[in-house]
Amino acid sequence: MLLYNTETKKREEFVPITPGKVSMYVCGPTVYDFIHIGNARPMIVFDTLRRYFEHKGYEVNYVSNFTDVDDKIIKRANEEGVTAQEISERFIKECKKDMEGMNVRPATTHPQATQEIGGMIEMIRTLIGKGYAYEKNGTVYFSTRKDKGYGKLSHKNLDDLRSGSRSLKVSGEDEKEDPLDFVLWKPKKEGEPYWESPWGQGRPGWHIECSVMAKRYLGDTIDIHAGGEDLVFPHHENEIAQSECANGVPFAQYWLHNAFLNIDNRKMSKSLGNFFTVRQISEKYDLMVLRLFMLSAHYRSPLNFSKELIESAKSSYERITNAVDNLNFLASVAKTEAATDAEKTKIGSLADFTKRFDEGMDDDVNTADALSVVFDLVRYANAEVSAESSKEFIAAVKKELLDLCDILGLKVEKKKEVLDSDIEDLIAQRQAARKAKDFRKADEIRDQLAAMGITLKDTREGVKWTKA
Ligand code: AMP
Ligand code: ZN
Repeated sequence: MLLYNTETKKREEFVPITPGKVSMYVCGPTVYDFIHIGNARPMIVFDTLRRYFEHKGYEVNYVSNFTDVDDKIIKRANEEGVTAQEISERFIKECKKDMEGMNVRPATTHPQATQEIGGMIEMIRTLIGKGYAYEKNGTVYFSTRKDKGYGKLSHKNLDDLRSGSRSLKVSGEDEKEDPLDFVLWKPKKEGEPYWESPWGQGRPGWHIECSVMAKRYLGDTIDIHAGGEDLVFPHHENEIAQSECANGVPFAQYWLHNAFLNIDNRKMSKSLGNFFTVRQISEKYDLMVLRLFMLSAHYRSPLNFSKELIESAKSSYERITNAVDNLNFLASVAKTEAATDAEKTKIGSLADFTKRFDEGMDDDVNTADALSVVFDLVRYANAEVSAESSKEFIAAVKKELLDLCDILGLKVEKKKEVLDSDIEDLIAQRQAARKAKDFRKADEIRDQLAAMGITLKDTREGVKWTKA
């Protein structure tokens, strides 16, 4: 399988450190608000890569953090007059709801920065001990120039960076020995959360979080580190500097970055008014439509979001769900069980779809190509399966389709919706049975409703029901 590595700027054959296993770290969101559809792109893309690895038989250790201490969280907490923890806990919960809606599987571990402060202090001490970091009045800085490999991910040259930053004298940061040095630990400010440390009360810088959480849950060298392309510099460059100088071994074998999601060909921004949260999209569309939309482009290509494009993703999604519905219908009316010889040959060739799907995914996770195979299979199902088909053949076509969709994380089989009118009908039938003193039938209907998650309560005004 080929993966494009930002560090080498090449597509490279993926070879895991331990055969059969993959360790992945994906930078997660800062939890100060609902996640927006841009944040959803790395979640969906890298969840799909994880699912594909599992389809190929790998065991995947997938770690994605929540940044739960940050200026934006503190700002919102102060505005609402609540603690920073209350804000981060609220939006972690909301983020998990959105992830579930997008069928993004929970990570093996979702570490939170505030729970890992001890490890961060430990790594900062190691860096100071090895001469890569220094303390000035309660702030600890990383000595960027001491790291000989600095710039290797973002392909930036230290001299260019230095001349660019010469004029930038950030207030409060003028104690730095070099303008390129970055913060590992900062002293507390009034009204901010803080932790005790050897350098006084304070909180960690953002970059050290990920170095520490990756080390703790995945080890010193990991297979894949991923995130959006805005993180290449300085976040990931700084993570490499911290981890490699502290641990003395390479940090990540492959660096994967998704391109940005734009809206109406412009950068998404609250001030431009072209900004959508995943929650807003979920009010109009099934989030499977959003997932399909994200997968319709290669993850390294910029992706444009517009009303027309999401509508077109909606009809594409419905082409798949309609095909599955149709297969279910044909299976329910099929007259024969076993496949004919001709059908057996066709069942044997279904594996070709998986083969072509895998070829797309092996080509640096080309989900656009993989999706086109799914649509070929939809066309095949619509053309080849009919009222004359055997149950065995229909089941095989349906399995192939569901399996491929499942690798992409697309749920395409509609759940039977329980309509209020159906419930009312059943209740009326139960009342009639009771009136006719057919208590067995009445009880059967009650059990049938219970299985649908409906609880009945007999009241003076009649029967009331509640959905579980
Ligand atoms: P943040 O909460 O800003 O740290 O972002 C969390 C993740 O979402 C990071 O991997 C970002 O690179 C990614 N991200 C943020 N905005 C976008 C966007 N418009 N398109 C694609 N990815 C984004
Ligand atoms: Zn990170």
